[in-house]
Amino acid sequence: MGEFDLIKRYFTRPARQAILGVGDDCALLQPAPGTQLAISCDMLVEGHHFLSMTDPFKLGHKALAVNLSDLAACGAKPLAFTLALALPRADDAWLAPFSQGLFALADAHGCELIGGDTTRGPLNICITVFGEVPVVNGQSKALLRSGAQAGDDLYVSGTLGDARLALEVSRGTVSVPAPVQEAARCRMEQPTPRVALGLALRSIATAAIDVSDGLLGDLGHILQQSGVGATVNTDIAATLVAARAYYTKTSNLSATEISPDQWRDLALAGGDDYELLFTAPVSKRKAVATAALASQTPVTRIGQIDLERGLHLLDAQGQAVPNIYTSFDHFA
Ligand code: ADP
Ligand code: MG
Repeated sequence: MGEFDLIKRYFTRPARQAILGVGDDCALLQPAPGTQLAISCDMLVEGHHFLSMTDPFKLGHKALAVNLSDLAACGAKPLAFTLALALPRADDAWLAPFSQGLFALADAHGCELIGGDTTRGPLNICITVFGEVPVVNGQSKALLRSGAQAGDDLYVSGTLGDARLALEVSRGTVSVPAPVQEAARCRMEQPTPRVALGLALRSIATAAIDVSDGLLGDLGHILQQSGVGATVNTDIAATLVAARAYYTKTSNLSATEISPDQWRDLALAGGDDYELLFTAPVSKRKAVATAALASQTPVTRIGQIDLERGLHLLDAQGQAVPNIYTSFDHFA
């Protein structure tokens, strides 16, 4: 199978919304009147972002999911994407499930593949996504990292730390029962981009980012770009590790080999969660709850934005928790 057969067989479908899709020198997109294009690019490299034995169907999903997550964090509606692929060989047994995983997620979000590049080389998947954001009265409705205001509430969607837990299990640093392992692995391999929530937050959130490097690390970007500080309730954050709920339901938390500190670390510094971390005025609490409901995405208030710069971590009793997370990580 040559390069052009491969592109035709696995990556060429009739254009839908795009004016022109795969097959020419450029694809053509026509953004709706009164909108801006939101563009983001993420690359997955074998051995670094995923392991060589990763299921290609799940890899197809994840490669697009991490990109859609950036659109979600921007409040952008997915339109289209390009795929640059380096492959060691043209292997049907890999390409078929990879393209199926990719298109399953693409179709679920109405995001079409409009072009790309294919070369021989070490496995490397680079996707660029294009989304649409309305402009109202000359003002972009995009959610930026720079809009957090002192006094805003701080929220995160979904669950935290489970992808990192799966990574630690695969590294052998921790072991968990099979059902916990399976659920955590699913979070690592097939993250859910919070696109519907991002859209629902457009006129509500003041700032947003998707959690890829870990909650506190990504919060740091909002704080820095908004010129503010924050206080985070670490005990609330620790409850957001989905795996932890398994132990609280089935047995005793102390029966696990994961310590309370480690649950907290997973939530605060885990990474690869692809949840949305966002800020909104206190006056918008009802609107945030409505957006969460409408997008069927759980949202938890974990802290607030402070006028004074710096990050304060508090436990449920209001006691300060040392912020070791820039310099230390229990799993590092
Ligand atoms: P060019 O030489 O102009 O870069 P290519 O021969 O690389 O064109 O690609 C031919 C067409 O196939 C182009 O429209 C390109 O966008 C598309 N294409 C190449 N690789 C992929 C891919 N992996 N997925 C989707 N479209 C692709
Ligand atoms: Mg090319």
